[in-house]
Amino acid sequence: MPQAPEVDRQLAVVFDTNKCLGCQTCTIACKTLWTHQEGMEYHWWNIVNTKPGRGTPRDIDQMGGGFRDEKTYPGQLPTRETFGEAWDYNYDEVLGVDKEGLPSPSGGRGSTAFLHPKGGEPVWSPNWEEDQGAGEYPNCYYFYVQFICNHCTKPACLEACPRAAIYKRMEDGIVLIDEERCNGYRFCLEACPYKRIYFNHLQVIAQKCVLCFPRVEQGVAPACMRQCPGRLRFFGYLDDEDSVVYKLVEKWKVALPYHEDWGTSPNVFYVPPLAPYRFNEVGDIDEENPRIPVEYLIELFGSKVKQALATLRKEMEKTRRGERSELMDILIAYRWKDNFGGFDRDPAELDRPTVKD
Ligand code: SF4
Ligand code: SF4
Ligand code: SF4
Repeated sequence: MPQAPEVDRQLAVVFDTNKCLGCQTCTIACKTLWTHQEGMEYHWWNIVNTKPGRGTPRDIDQMGGGFRDEKTYPGQLPTRETFGEAWDYNYDEVLGVDKEGLPSPSGGRGSTAFLHPKGGEPVWSPNWEEDQGAGEYPNCYYFYVQFICNHCTKPACLEACPRAAIYKRMEDGIVLIDEERCNGYRFCLEACPYKRIYFNHLQVIAQKCVLCFPRVEQGVAPACMRQCPGRLRFFGYLDDEDSVVYKLVEKWKVALPYHEDWGTSPNVFYVPPLAPYRFNEVGDIDEENPRIPVEYLIELFGSKVKQALATLRKEMEKTRRGERSELMDILIAYRWKDNFGGFDRDPAELDRPTVKD
């Protein structure tokens, strides 16, 4: 069974769930750059899910994979159906016009008129439960969680591949699939507990987020991070003490992995959601009880979430008193370049092949 090497350096990512707009600009940035070819229609290497919800693929948190007690834990194979097939709108029905632009017999049914590749109505899609909350009014809640490959320190995908087609780069810890070696067995899809690998049924290979390595090698932040209008995506080397990634993970300890218990030592971290306080039965604010049940946050981000939330609240209070907080300054992200640990080169400046080349 192949093992990942101990790398020289590790790139890492932090997502601040409190600032996410749920706009999926990140998702589209990745789609337009990496996954627009045939056979990749249902690939969303970046996806932002509404929580609590069943996720992408459906019921991802119950699909297994990864490790428990350092032993391999069996995982289910995610299918195109559970990820959600690529579907399109029936524009004639949505707009109420036919191809000639004349009024159609349907007259338009509104934005729920879909065209499913296999016919009929779609039953699942990425982020199917967008903006569906939990809890009872007036204490309802939901939040967004952003997913890409975690470029794990102990990648279950790599260990599961009998062809040794998955490797982890020594210089930056990026986990990549060698598409020439891949035979399409899909053991990696079963093994990854985050279900971040997709199968290309036309090319018969597994494919996943490459952490935009061709951009990163030229000092440009990944597309999904650079395009985020919420400025909540942070990127850099985990051992670079000047990077905000280091400060959020190691110094302030407010950024935590998703389901650390799945055993792969992920290198994507989350600033957990600070929901408003609950209203009590007479409509007053109940400062003892947050709206998002802390048990649920512990399930997702581990027991350190309590301390992370306490730190966030304490630093917010400081700024309310007019004091300066390094942590709040980082999370506000006044200057976008500060988010990217030195990977702030303009992609428009990249060397491009010329006709002569
Ligand atoms: Fe592999 Fe999954 Fe970890 Fe990515 S998130 S490195 S695909 S185990
Ligand atoms: Fe896609 Fe690059 Fe973001 Fe990975 S890092 S999800 S490849 S845009
Ligand atoms: Fe959230 Fe940024 Fe993605 Fe929009 S682009 S969904 S704000 S992470």
